[in-house]
Amino acid sequence: MMGASSRGTQLKQINPLTYLKCTGCGTVSSREFREGDYVFKETEEKCPKCDSTKMIVEDIYVEEKPHQGKSR
Ligand SMILES: [Zn+2]
Repeated sequence: MMGASSRGTQLKQINPLTYLKCTGCGTVSSREFREGDYVFKETEEKCPKCDSTKMIVEDIYVEEKPHQGKSR
């Protein structure tokens, strides 16, 4: 299981994603996590579909760190 096919895509920082659900039409959209975000928080994000400005944080997804190949 060694030797990934891709390389050079390592990110130095973890960028969690916040999933927002529109209270109007139920559309879920994601954006970068911002400080203060938590699940079920009401935000004033603008829904891309119905232009409602009330969206609730439905989920926060944290990408795992890429494995660091320290072989020494
Ligand atoms: Zn909407």
